Amino acid sequence: MNLILLGAPGCGKGTQGELLAARTGIVRVSTGDLLRDAVGKGAPLGQRAKSYMDQGLLVPDDVIIGLLREVLGSPAAARGVIMDGFPRTIAQAEAVDALLTERGGAVDAVLLFDVPDDELRRRILVRASQMGRTDDNVEALQQRLTVYREQTQPLVDFYRGRGILVTIHAVGSIPEIAERVRTGLGA
Ligand code: AMP
Repeated sequence: MNLILLGAPGCGKGTQGELLAARTGIVRVSTGDLLRDAVGKGAPLGQRAKSYMDQGLLVPDDVIIGLLREVLGSPAAARGVIMDGFPRTIAQAEAVDALLTERGGAVDAVLLFDVPDDELRRRILVRASQMGRTDDNVEALQQRLTVYREQTQPLVDFYRGRGILVTIHAVGSIPEIAERVRTGLGA
């Protein structure tokens, strides 16, 4: 089972992705976590990514697609993967399709976490104060929302057209939303 979690920054897909991974045993891969880890270690990937991340911009597709090749080709992903934070552009979506096809797989479902903008702003500012992420400040947040609208939102129609989009109303308690995810996936 290959699943994509889609939604604006602060929509809760990371939290729900972890719960879903724990429940199903499918590995969750977050490109944001992998990039932050690479930045923390001072790895070449991190050096290329950091300034984009700090500004709330997307890391260029060529860098991300190299990373996707590595993660989707790994033995851990052989039973399927929960994709958190990617694909974020049409080019990345096409790369995901190509990489999964190479292994005889496909994207099975895309969960869209739907949250109104004012609620997103509130959540992300709470996260900024709790976690101290350098990209959770107001400027980077505005930029990340704009980037989401311009570069990532087109994926909604891309996957809706295939009939694999499942929209999750993602306002409510964590268990409530987890239940909607379970129902939405029919499992
Ligand atoms: P996230 O933790 O998913 O919100 O990602 C944090 C930051 O990492 C983003 O604002 C981007 O700068 C970068 N990033 C993570 N995933 C991707 C991706 N798939 N494509 C481009 N940039 C990404």
